[in-house]
Amino acid sequence: DPLTGVYNRRTLVGLAETAIATATHERTPLALLAIDIDHFKRVNDHLGHDAGDEALCGLVARLRESLRADQMLSRIGGEEFAILLPGCDETAAFIVGERLRKHVAQSPLSVHGRLLRLRISIGVAALSADAPDLRALLRNADHALYAAKRTGRNRVVARSALPRALDTFD
Ligand code: GH3
Ligand code: MG
Ligand code: MG
Repeated sequence: DPLTGVYNRRTLVGLAETAIATATHERTPLALLAIDIDHFKRVNDHLGHDAGDEALCGLVARLRESLRADQMLSRIGGEEFAILLPGCDETAAFIVGERLRKHVAQSPLSVHGRLLRLRISIGVAALSADAPDLRALLRNADHALYAAKRTGRNRVVARSALPRALDTFD
């Protein structure tokens, strides 16, 4: 991704294909976090689009600070990110998500000479027979992310915590 230097969506697709094939073959867990910045539009509205871009780079630095080398961060939308977590089941991924969420909330960014405290919401999904590919992981993580937004933001929600009705909603 030219702005933030992390993987872009297309690179994520290739990396996920390999990681999912390995996890399936070796019967090891794999999870995905979908991350969306809370009220990011306000940053642009109050500080301008350039400051918004700087905040995106600052957020990436924060996320990288609390990730391991094999945990693959990608920017999949304007202010949306995905992290592929090989070896993590949903519970382990939830813990990673909580660590990221807290770290971001507790470490303000310096943007255009001002301190800016971002908050993020996170949806968690794990590889399973029902969700055997990236498409399903992204969809399930997105449903969980939507629930995190709806229930107050600055939260991590696991897909398995969703009611069945939302689960099957596409
Ligand atoms: P929510 O908590 O519901 O996620 O609110 P939000 O304002 O973050 O969400 P919404 O999807 O309404 O708006 C996302 C905003 O992110 C819209 C756009 O102004 C901003 N944005 C998206 N991509 C970029 C980018 O590359 N640079 C900058 N500066 N802003 C971006
Ligand atoms: Mg968004
Ligand atoms: Mg947002």
